[in-house]
Amino acid sequence: MHMSPDEFRALAAQATDFVADYWERVESFRVLSGVKPGEIGAVLPESAPERGFIEEAEPAAAWGRVFEDLERIVLPGLTHWQHPGFFAFFPANVSAPAVIGELLSAGLGVQGMLWATSPACTELEVRVLEWLAEMVGLPRTFTSRDGEAGGGVIQGTASEGTLAALCAARYRAKRAWRAEGAGHVAGHGAGHGAGHGAEAEPHLVMYTSEQAHSSVVKAAMIAGLADGPQDRRHVRLIGVDAAGAMDPAALEQAIDEDVAAGRCPFFVVGTVGTTGTTAIDPVGAIAAGVRRACSGRGDLAPWIHIDAAHAGAALICPEHRWWIDGVEGVDSFSFNPHKWLLTNFDCSCFWTRDRASLIGSMSITPEYLRNAASESGAVVDYRDWHVPLGRRFRSLKLWLVIRHYGVEGLRRYIREHIRIAGLFESWVRADGRFEVTQPRTMNLICFRLRGPEGASGAEVDALNKRLLDAINASGRVYLIH
Ligand code: PLP
Repeated sequence: MHMSPDEFRALAAQATDFVADYWERVESFRVLSGVKPGEIGAVLPESAPERGFIEEAEPAAAWGRVFEDLERIVLPGLTHWQHPGFFAFFPANVSAPAVIGELLSAGLGVQGMLWATSPACTELEVRVLEWLAEMVGLPRTFTSRDGEAGGGVIQGTASEGTLAALCAARYRAKRAWRAEGAGHVAGHGAGHGAGHGAEAEPHLVMYTSEQAHSSVVKAAMIAGLADGPQDRRHVRLIGVDAAGAMDPAALEQAIDEDVAAGRCPFFVVGTVGTTGTTAIDPVGAIAAGVRRACSGRGDLAPWIHIDAAHAGAALICPEHRWWIDGVEGVDSFSFNPHKWLLTNFDCSCFWTRDRASLIGSMSITPEYLRNAASESGAVVDYRDWHVPLGRRFRSLKLWLVIRHYGVEGLRRYIREHIRIAGLFESWVRADGRFEVTQPRTMNLICFRLRGPEGASGAEVDALNKRLLDAINASGRVYLIH
């Protein structure tokens, strides 16, 4: 009932042709799909086919209908993310080497949950993440090289990376709190938690900026620290400066206030390249402020995570490394090659300097997963580094992208994007009808119509909305507000 290897060869070649043709003609489509809600669903059968292609005289020929349906039903219902006129959100650029990596990963079909379930899947990922750590300028402490206590892992998304960091932060904070409480009971307690017993639960508080991605508060909601997006009992949103970057003095003050009130600051998320304007939180000042606010307060050491989901890719260019000056003082860092580094979704790289706390927060070993390699302590078992147990061979695509382009080629790619963003910015600045509303830090330009003299803010907003809607209705370009 399965395809023979020869049938697979022929159909996979047809699928490859389909994709290559799609890339060649992607510009001929309207970038934003014009379908109405329900239109695609309406032409699909309501139930699954009882009899598959395998019941037909020539199953391979029946596959022709799949390619027809892709053309007739699927393509018109796509927003074309690879279209040269796609400027909405952050990029999700695919590349041929990454697609080949995806195919190989799917075809090999391994599960890399434990080292033992596919040693190459784990060891290639460890090495490629060491490469990438070096490429973006992370210190060796974010790897396990030479006995360092860190390490890197591919998570599905930056949102999952933030959630994993939160879990590690909570694990570390609670252990420190309990140890200190026990010390106090024994008569040695000092610092922020003095006075609580070993059994008491700390009142955890986390901090991020008003401009942080919604996934930070979502992580708090998932972890049971917020009942909804507006619940501020355990979440503080720190103010930002005019450029949209976190104010480190305000962060320090908030931590001071929480400590004075007996609460337990445990987690800080800074953003390098915010979603709204690509603002850059001052990484070194955040780390120094957190250290200052916590000095002399027992074992209090909030976990600092840096979310560089989009911007991290540009750190492969040394001229941007100052964005993460001070990163040696943070606990974890993540960015998405699936945004701006030519690697298909999903591929979000996460590094920590404290893998013991991450693993401590995630590790549970049912009998069927016990094996000699894990028990030897000599191997990495990535199931303990994130929520899922099963995991795909995702490092393959990253490995092939880096080998195909080389670090130098990837730098050229990033630099060219930043160059043409600067060119576009100069066109906007040269046109008196428009203004650039935020400083450009990389490849995002925030601009708008100024509107007529004397127009109210609401009127200018409405005018800009009309312009945006008209641009997006053109089908040639897709922008977002
Ligand atoms: N963090 C930042 C700064 C982002 O801009 C985004 C998405 O644009 C995310 C996190 C979420 O990324 P993911 O889809 O990988 O969870």
